[in-house]
Amino acid sequence: MSDAPDRAAALRAYADETAGCTRCPLAATRTQVVFGAGNPDADLLFVGEAPGFHEDQNGIPFVGQAGKLLDRLLAGIGLERSDIFVANVLKCRPPQNRDPQQDEIASCEPHLFRQIELIQPRLVATLGNFATKLLSGKPVGITRVHGQEQHVTLGGNPVVLYPLYHPAAALYTPSMLKVLEQDFARIPALIERSAAATPAVPGDEPRGEPVQAAASAVEQDTVQLGLF
Ligand code: URA
Repeated sequence: MSDAPDRAAALRAYADETAGCTRCPLAATRTQVVFGAGNPDADLLFVGEAPGFHEDQNGIPFVGQAGKLLDRLLAGIGLERSDIFVANVLKCRPPQNRDPQQDEIASCEPHLFRQIELIQPRLVATLGNFATKLLSGKPVGITRVHGQEQHVTLGGNPVVLYPLYHPAAALYTPSMLKVLEQDFARIPALIERSAAATPAVPGDEPRGEPVQAAASAVEQDTVQLGLF
């Protein structure tokens, strides 16, 4: 997957394929699969936990309160959604927003790994415990590893993994929000450093423009996110 149109088309095709996923019982309770959204050519991929009520309704990750905080944190470092791609460990909402279960994670993880393979990000920022443990391959919790980059191989490529607190956890805890802001402040330098490293595919740079979403019934501000 070496050039931008191919990457976007392949990602869209994979989104279409996963839209009917029945790999786990969440298929029976979801409104829709929340595949992910953003720039398929992004150097930076955020991985959250699972869709909540609003994401399940809109089909786009991080559009509720935690998403609004994510947007503010991104703006604070000069980024917006069209600069990044956002996905979740689980593509379907767990009932009552309960924690993901191990069998659900195991069923769903091939989707995330395929997304990483297609997008080929250089920096993967994991939001909270579930994404961090899955992608680091270690059971170490977010409190111990947030703000500390790790070098891992994901989707067949070397990637810098950067664990962060989940924005939902910081919503009502000012001390955690401060730490999250401090950890976010390092992202631009990490992007620069990881993008300056050997391209995932020789001749792969520069990255292209965000692919525009097909407008749908979702709200105006979510359409601008770039919908797959
Ligand atoms: N929390 C997540 O982890 N993901 C979302 O998409 C929304 C809230």
